[in-house]
Amino acid sequence: MAETNSSEILVAGAGPAGMIAALAFAGNGFSITLAGPPAPPDDRRTTALMMPSLALLKEFGLFDVVAESGAPLRAMRIVDGTSRLIRSPTVTFRASEIGETAFGYNIPNRHLLNRLEAAVREHGAIEWRESLVSGYRLSDHEAVADLDGDTITARLVVAADGRSSPAREAAGIHTHRHGHPQSALVLNFAHSRDHGNVSTEFHTETGPFTQVPLPGQRSSLVWVVRPEAAERLMEMSNNAISEEIEGRMQSMLGKVEVEPGRQVYPLSSAMPSRFGARRVALVGEAAHLFPPIGAQGLNLGVRDIQDLVTIARASRGDPGSPAALLRYDARRRPDIMARSSAVNMLNYSLLSDFLPAQFMRSAGIGLLAGFAPLRGFFMREGLRPGSGWRHAFGGRVTESGRPSGEEIRR
Ligand SMILES: Cc1cc2nc3c(=O)[nH]c(=O)nc-3n(C[C@H](O)[C@H](O)[C@H](O)COP(=O)(O)OP(=O)(O)OC[C@H]3O[C@@H](n4cnc5c(N)ncnc54)[C@H](O)[C@@H]3O)c2cc1C
Repeated sequence: MAETNSSEILVAGAGPAGMIAALAFAGNGFSITLAGPPAPPDDRRTTALMMPSLALLKEFGLFDVVAESGAPLRAMRIVDGTSRLIRSPTVTFRASEIGETAFGYNIPNRHLLNRLEAAVREHGAIEWRESLVSGYRLSDHEAVADLDGDTITARLVVAADGRSSPAREAAGIHTHRHGHPQSALVLNFAHSRDHGNVSTEFHTETGPFTQVPLPGQRSSLVWVVRPEAAERLMEMSNNAISEEIEGRMQSMLGKVEVEPGRQVYPLSSAMPSRFGARRVALVGEAAHLFPPIGAQGLNLGVRDIQDLVTIARASRGDPGSPAALLRYDARRRPDIMARSSAVNMLNYSLLSDFLPAQFMRSAGIGLLAGFAPLRGFFMREGLRPGSGWRHAFGGRVTESGRPSGEEIRR
C-alpha cells in the first residue's frame, strides 16, 4: 500500500554529491531521505579532491579511509603541448609555495563511492531509498515527491540528480546547455619512473591531456580528444596506446603500461539560470557542468553543499523557504560563474585557431610562470575561493574556521 512519509530534506541522487550532501545534512541534525540507485560499479575515473573537500570528509570520519587509496598532489604542472605559433611557457604550482604539503589527493572514484555508500548506510538519520524519484509536485510551501509508489513530503529537495536533473526541470529552472566537440578518454597506467606526486596537464589542440599521480608508480589519465579520435583510441591494442601515451609525455615517466578498462565520457557544459527555486536547491552537476580541466567539478559541488548546509542551519524552521533559496543562489553564483567561465574560456582557447585567444592564454600562463605572488594568489583561490584576496590584504594563509592541509592530515 502506498505510504506518505515526511523528511525535512529529500536528497535526490546518490552519486558523490548526493551522498556527501546526505551525510553533511544528517551530521547537522536534519532528517534525510536519500533517493536514487547506487552509482554504477564500473566508474574507472579518479577524482582529485582538494584539501578543503577532504576536510568535509574528515568531519564524516572518512579522511583516512579515503586518502589511503589515493596519492597526495604536491605539485601541478601545465605544459603547452600544442604546435601553435603562440605557445606558453611551462608553469609549475607547488603546494609548498603556499605553505601546504599537498593540494589534495587523487582518489579512485570506486573507492570514494564505496566509502561514502558504507557511511550513508550506517547513518541512523539517513533513510536511503534506492530508486528514482518519478515525479515532483512543488510549491512555495512544500515539496512532494513520488518514489516507488510512495509519497515523500519535504521542506527542501537537494537536487544532486546530475546533468539532466529531473528536480531542476520540475522546478522550472531554465538551463543553458552547450555540447563540445570533445570526449574524455579515461584510463590508468603503470610507469617505470616515479611521478614525485606531480600532476602534469599538457595543453593540446583538442583539449588537455592530464596525468595525475596514484599510489606507487601508477597514474591516471584524462585525455580530451575529438569524439572520433576517442573511438580510435578505445580500439587500439594495449601496447600501441601505451607507446602513444609515452610519446605524448616525452617519456617523462619512463616506460608506460596501460591497465585494462578504458572509458570515454562525452563532454558538455550546462549553466542553470538559478541555483534554487520552488523548494529545490541545485548541487553538483545539476548546478554546473563543464569539461574536466583543473579538477574543479566535484570540489565545486562540495562547496555547494557546504554553503547550502550553512544557509539551512540559519533557516532551521524552514530550510527550503523562498528566502533561504534566494540566499543560496546569491552565495553560490560568484564561485560557480567564475569557475565555469574560467574552464570554458581555457577550453575554448585550446580549441580555437583565433590568434588573440591563444595570445591571452599564453600571456596569462606566462605571467603565472614568471610572477610568484600571482602564482600564490592563483593557488590559494584555486583551493579556497576568497583566500587569495584574504592573504593579499590580511597576510593570513588559511580562512578562519577552515583548516589547512596539515591540520586535516593530523
Ligand atoms: C573524466 C572526468 C574527470 C573528472 N575529474 C574530476 C576531478 O579530478 N576532480 C573533480 O573535482 N571533479 C572531477 N570531475 C567531475 C566530477 O566527476 C563530477 O563533478 C561528479 O561526478 C558529479 O557528481 P554528481 O553526484 O553531481 O553527479 P552524478 O555522478 O551524475 O550523480 C547523479 C545521480 O543522480 C541520479 N539520478 C538521476 N535522476 C534521478 C532521479 N529522478 N531520482 C533519483 N536519482 C536520480 C543518478 O542515478 C546519479 O547516480 C571529472 C569528470 C569527468 C567526466
